[in-house]
Amino acid sequence: MSNSELTQRWQGALMDNYGTPRIPLTHGVGARVWDANGREYLDFVGGIAVNALGHGHPAVVRAVSDQIATLGHVSNLFVAEPPVALAERLLRLFERPGRVYFCNSGAEAVEAAFKIGRRTGRTHMVATAGGFHGRTMGALALTGQPAKQEPFLPLPGVVTHVPYGDAEALRAAVTTDTAFVIIEPVQGESGVIVPPAGYLAAAREITRATGTLLVLDEVQTGIGRTGHWLACQAQGVEPDVVTLAKGLGGGLPIGATVAFGAAAELLTPGQHGSTFGGNPVACAAALAVLDTIETEGILDHVERAGQRLRKGIEALGHPHIAQIRGAGLLLGIVLHEPLAQRVQQAAQDAGLLVNAVASDVIRLAPPLIVTDEEIDTFLRALPAVLDGVPAPHGTSAFD
Ligand code: PMP
Repeated sequence: MSNSELTQRWQGALMDNYGTPRIPLTHGVGARVWDANGREYLDFVGGIAVNALGHGHPAVVRAVSDQIATLGHVSNLFVAEPPVALAERLLRLFERPGRVYFCNSGAEAVEAAFKIGRRTGRTHMVATAGGFHGRTMGALALTGQPAKQEPFLPLPGVVTHVPYGDAEALRAAVTTDTAFVIIEPVQGESGVIVPPAGYLAAAREITRATGTLLVLDEVQTGIGRTGHWLACQAQGVEPDVVTLAKGLGGGLPIGATVAFGAAAELLTPGQHGSTFGGNPVACAAALAVLDTIETEGILDHVERAGQRLRKGIEALGHPHIAQIRGAGLLLGIVLHEPLAQRVQQAAQDAGLLVNAVASDVIRLAPPLIVTDEEIDTFLRALPAVLDGVPAPHGTSAFD
């Protein structure tokens, strides 16, 4: 099967999510993938921060195949060991008592947080402009991107969106009627935006003072992506609820809503659930991911590799690049001009997969196991990619 054959087939059979061309990929190993024509790419998209251990990691392969051969699924009318072990493991990572709800995606993890929040009896919610929390209706109501919301109005709930990173705007919006505040520690989808230091701590203080739940959406930043198990741990902030997905399953669909303390008791039996939540195969994969991150010292590696990548890009001093921002291996290359789509295409032509996450931002989210050699290969190839995309006015922003 060739690229063009598979392209023709998907266009006839799949709903088109993004309206952009898709490269047909057939297989992957580590941080490399191959298309249907046999061409190799360095994968710095990583399934959008999903393939934490890269493609085909032996620990995940073994865990999945052993588990599917043993017990592939049980309904939540029963219980299997993998979801119990995974929940225990997650709670140990956070070093706090709580309870875990398992589902299958980031949006579902947010929906569960939404319902937990509504069980406080309060109806008002606060989220951030530009924030992304998923495409299901509740998650979309929290997503602060009007273009994504507009075709589906009215959305559930009364949500105030405040500017991201502005603690005083948050303080003004949160009242004793606010059920919860939901924040990403780094806004991923809107362009890898890092808030000012102290923002999450201020959110914690503001929510505590009003008896409001603090929900941190770590779907993109969690499970090692920023060099910590959770991005909020680096700032010493303890949320009431954390949402996880993406990297947790190392490629298998799994989401988790972790609620701590009193928040863990708000949903009572019968109020929420999902057939596939806690699926033993997905949970076994997640356990393998967590074990491997721990035993192979991957958090430290992410810190070092992230610095190497970031400093390497900065050192290029390329005139297209205004800034590089982010944390660990979640980085945004900010361009002076809205050239991100064209840079993405030029990179792809050069065998590098990157993601234009905003008109002027390229997101890098390689597998956490990306090697120094792979980073150096990327850094060697990037200047020619950028040179090949001329600025629209024939000048750079430095002129
Ligand atoms: N929250 C955040 C912070 C995300 O980045 C995403 C996905 N990009 C989601 C929620 C939704 O996750 P999913 O696509 O798995 O529903």
